[in-house]
Amino acid sequence: MTPEWLQAWTPTEGADRAAAQFRARFEADPDGTWSAPGRVNLIGEHTDYNGGLCLPIALPHRTYVALRRRDDDTVRLVSAQEPAGMRTIELGDVAPGTVDGWAGYVVGVAWALRQAGHTVSGFDVAVDSCVPYGAGLSSSAALEASVAVALDAAFALDLAGSDDGRATLAALCVRAENEIAGAPTGGMDQAAALRAQAGNALLLDCLDGSVRHVPFDLSAHGLALLVVDTRAEHALVDGQYAARRASCEAAAQRLGVGTLREISDDPRGLEWALDKLDDDVQVRRVRHVVNEIDRVTWFVALLDAGEVGLVGTLMNQSHASLRDDYEVSCRELDLVVDTARAAGATGARMTGGGFGGSAIALVGADEVDRVAQAVADAFAAEGLGAPAFLVATASGPAS
Ligand code: ADP
Ligand code: MG
Repeated sequence: MTPEWLQAWTPTEGADRAAAQFRARFEADPDGTWSAPGRVNLIGEHTDYNGGLCLPIALPHRTYVALRRRDDDTVRLVSAQEPAGMRTIELGDVAPGTVDGWAGYVVGVAWALRQAGHTVSGFDVAVDSCVPYGAGLSSSAALEASVAVALDAAFALDLAGSDDGRATLAALCVRAENEIAGAPTGGMDQAAALRAQAGNALLLDCLDGSVRHVPFDLSAHGLALLVVDTRAEHALVDGQYAARRASCEAAAQRLGVGTLREISDDPRGLEWALDKLDDDVQVRRVRHVVNEIDRVTWFVALLDAGEVGLVGTLMNQSHASLRDDYEVSCRELDLVVDTARAAGATGARMTGGGFGGSAIALVGADEVDRVAQAVADAFAAEGLGAPAFLVATASGPAS
């Protein structure tokens, strides 16, 4: 089985595709083209909604939009990934529960901007993307963020020019996804798409929204980050995500804290918290969240010290914790992780929410093909559908 590689488009190629689609569908020139990246999280999983830490990088794979403002209140939208055709929506009619499907991620951003008091009217937009859908690499936030920076420019909102403004846009994208698209999301994806910097991982503190850019250049250390999209589809994903959140909230309430982050900052430590919980499931959920927040701190400390080769151990611990304590892994993710390690990866873990989606492996730069081949072979041997592969380098934000 030959591994299938998902190549990132060059910025020119992506912009040209979006603009060409715009001209073909709307018979006019767009005002401009904008784009935003997908992301992959290095460590810190299921921590964002617990006020914790996470460490994503922006991918070289991006979503491109060509957009032209209109003087009325109408939004017309097309996407090369959505062949069902053009959608037309009146902005004034947008409210929670009124927009179905992919259009919610687009008009939701305009709706959220208006809710925040910004003046935004209708627009025409054409979308094209090389971020895989539903692979846990955040095509949804890439779409929201590309629309956000496009609207920022088209309506002269002056938010995308500063990190504070980008934090505001990220929060509005979260509202769009939660309230209009109707998908629960914790905030990491939108922060990565709008606030990451090329060559750096983004240390995001989800308690106060502050960020730190941590230099992350694997090639300087002879290493590479292999991303494997399992393409596994599992039912009940949303329900499981909601159940994990509810479990964390119930545990926080039992412990008398606002978020589980307070436990990791508490001098009495994790043991105190676990002793106070009588529910075994909550014990394991809390143990994952608190240890995972600690692992982010250790991961960053190793990067700061130039010890990139040592972060693999933390990745392995993270995977075990997500599999055993948080119970969000699945057969395909475990297979990627076990196979990659056996083939020489120094660390591997599932990334994203779990139950399918993607896994990452830290491998020698000259071992990427060999590890990918081993994973592709293992999937074929188990009769599973073929996974897809990409190599992630820390790339730039929405622009
Ligand atoms: P992920 O963010 O991990 O890729 P999600 O389920 O959160 O998965 O988001 C995927 C959804 O986002 C798609 O089903 C679609 O509704 C929307 N979306 C993402 N990219 C595009 C695109 N290029 N064109 C249209 N819709 C998109
Ligand atoms: Mg998403």
